[in-house]
Amino acid sequence: MSAPADTPRPVRHFEMPSSLAGKLRVYRFAIARRLVQASVLVLFFGTAHWGWKLLGPPLLAGNLSAAKLAGAVPLADPFAILQVFATRHAVAGEALLGAGLVLAAYFLLGGRVFCSWVCPMNVVTDAARRVRARLAVRDVFAIPPGARYAVLGLALAVSAVAGVAAFEWISPIAMLHREIVYGAGLGLTSVLGVFLFDAFVLRNGWCGHLCPLGAFWSLVGRGAQVRVAFDDASCTRCGDCLKACPEPRVLNFNEAARHGMIRSGECTNCAACIAVCPESSLRLTLRASARPYPVHEPGSRTGFACAESPAFRPKE
Ligand code: SF4
Ligand code: SF4
Repeated sequence: MSAPADTPRPVRHFEMPSSLAGKLRVYRFAIARRLVQASVLVLFFGTAHWGWKLLGPPLLAGNLSAAKLAGAVPLADPFAILQVFATRHAVAGEALLGAGLVLAAYFLLGGRVFCSWVCPMNVVTDAARRVRARLAVRDVFAIPPGARYAVLGLALAVSAVAGVAAFEWISPIAMLHREIVYGAGLGLTSVLGVFLFDAFVLRNGWCGHLCPLGAFWSLVGRGAQVRVAFDDASCTRCGDCLKACPEPRVLNFNEAARHGMIRSGECTNCAACIAVCPESSLRLTLRASARPYPVHEPGSRTGFACAESPAFRPKE
């Protein structure tokens, strides 16, 4: 990364390389995310349909809410367990252990790593974003920033009143997973609904505004250890990262410069911003290695807005 500059440097923008190696480098995180998402589904599918085993027991039995690895390691969705708590039904010790293991893993990796690296809906919403970009679709209406946290609270409240884990019944994530692993059916209608909503009504409407599971992982992600580091000295405020980022309100240059990283728990660590940054100002790192830019020293550009950048947004 380059040394601090007292004066703004010329703004360069991302250009897709012409070589295959260059393209693969740009798409490396996207390819890795698709491989992880596909691998999770294949493990469930292979266990359910082809009887895959590991040293005797089923390899990965269950679903995204509750599963067992190799017949020994329980895995559970902590948000599903929270909803069961709300119903005041008893939760088995094994489910609690499974939820604890999953919680610990995502606390380390970044809560919303689930959203961009594991959740099968991510493929649907990424496709919707490409469609709306191609057709230049505009948002039909806006949704307040904290809406998904209200939906999270609503899911818990409905669970308490109805006595069932409410979101698990209507979750398009669970439905898509069920349809892929156990066979296509009516569940795909809600998945289609999310696609149409994201493509033609609101950019990143489901994952970025409404999904209560995303809200839950955003809260966990606030303390996550794997973060996107930001180097203020080399950033020219070209804004290409803002255009690539699927999450509203996550990239804030002033705050990122102050902390040396993107701190928002709503960042999914998808690395789309890293792939397009022409200055290599962004990279995945551990929270402990993030270096805040020395804002009070000569050369500090925190707060600097490049006049050529329409995408620059000052700290709100
Ligand atoms: S961090 Fe964002 S604004 Fe800064 S140079 Fe990279 S892509 Fe451009
Ligand atoms: S800031 Fe970067 S890693 Fe985080 S959600 Fe946006 S594009 Fe993905």
